Amino acid sequence: MKPKDFQRLSADLEKLTLRQKQLLVDRLRAPEKSVTVSRMIESRRGETPACPHCGHEKVNRWGMAAGLQRYRCGSCKSTFNALTGTPLARLRHKDQWLTYAEQMAEGRSVRKSATACQVHRNTAFRWRHRFLELPDDQRATLLSGIAEADETVFLESFKGRKGGMPRAPRQRGGKAAKRGLSEEQIPVLICRDRSGNTADFVVEKADQKHLRAVLKPLLPADAILCTDGGKALGAVARELGIVHRPINLAAGIRVVGGVYHLQNVNAYDSRLKQWMLRFHGVATHYLGNYLGWRRLIERHHNAPSPKDILLAALGICSQQLTVT
Ligand SMILES: [Zn+2]
Repeated sequence: MKPKDFQRLSADLEKLTLRQKQLLVDRLRAPEKSVTVSRMIESRRGETPACPHCGHEKVNRWGMAAGLQRYRCGSCKSTFNALTGTPLARLRHKDQWLTYAEQMAEGRSVRKSATACQVHRNTAFRWRHRFLELPDDQRATLLSGIAEADETVFLESFKGRKGGMPRAPRQRGGKAAKRGLSEEQIPVLICRDRSGNTADFVVEKADQKHLRAVLKPLLPADAILCTDGGKALGAVARELGIVHRPINLAAGIRVVGGVYHLQNVNAYDSRLKQWMLRFHGVATHYLGNYLGWRRLIERHHNAPSPKDILLAALGICSQQLTVT
């Protein structure tokens, strides 16, 4: 552009609204963000990536596609890139992923995120759940010392489910038609140890069989399990041969022996419930994703950066299981 034209363009910028200026800034920053995203994606693979299809280690560089290095397997001849086999594979508009992660970091709605990224809201909704697919699995795999377990429930929501609705969908959030446990509530088990390692599980049923299945790999033999004295959890502790400290909250007892209590897990649970209110009820199918999202927020001391979110979505997180 000639200097004179540039001066004119520059002068014209004064006429832009704040919103237009913001859009322009985003547009100017897009290539830079795109490079950042590509670098983060490429860092998923080491110098010598193995073939995701057959595991063969002899692969060749095979040009670039959509801003990413493409490889070709020396054995099965298939081509792949650093995203192949991940939930983010084949999602378009990579230049907007960091902006999307910014929206997630700020807790913006799907609608607002869609506007910020200039994509359709269905796309923004799809991105949300693709981004959360791996964080759902990034829970603690082993607790140590005193472990607190809390059984809770989430109201089942059929929002976003296509067909097969057992009944008319409930309006925003709402209360279960039946009181107490019913098929309208999804049981969730939340466990935390005193280092902040957190694991949560959407279980089919909060009975001994299902709770044992998730607790057995999580609790080492020398763990001490604090619960509110529910029968199923007590039975699981006995079955696993783990020391059990029931806290009879109903009788007004909060702490036993000075150290055995449920305050960490209960506080986590209320923060989670409070935070979930903004979604006005989530579809059962996505509940695990939201649990993972909350864990991600807590892991980063309530302020995950857009990069933290994108790294978790890519399955790259150095300290994904432990709060330090
Ligand atoms: Zn191969």
